[in-house]
Amino acid sequence: MNPSQKDRIECEGGCHCGAVRFRLALPPRIEVRRCNCSICRMTGYQHLTVAQADFELLEGSDDLVEYRFNTGVARHLFCRRCGIKSFYVPRSHPEAWSVHLACVELPDGVEVNWGDFDGADWEAHIGEIRDIVN
Ligand SMILES: [Zn+2]
Repeated sequence: MNPSQKDRIECEGGCHCGAVRFRLALPPRIEVRRCNCSICRMTGYQHLTVAQADFELLEGSDDLVEYRFNTGVARHLFCRRCGIKSFYVPRSHPEAWSVHLACVELPDGVEVNWGDFDGADWEAHIGEIRDIVN
């Protein structure tokens, strides 16, 4: 367990239609990254990387459809009903989840530290974000 686990704030989120719902345990200050890779720039994805232990899928496992491309490491998961990718397995952190911050009902008191990741030049920049897990 993360040493700061007692300070974590529980919140929920999900896709647009409500079929996919999840619960998160976040620290009071979260790191979020925008990305300019081929798929993130189309979706405006806001990366909130969380450990598997801090993420629980509540509903919608049967509604998730997977899309893979390029290296195939990332498992892009979108709702088959509304098309929203609310979370997925990122290539940068295949042992964790990346949650789309826009799909999170963020409670008051959680501070967001924004940054950018140059995913278009992934190999040159992965070291900058490899250790970022909220
Ligand atoms: Zn949906």
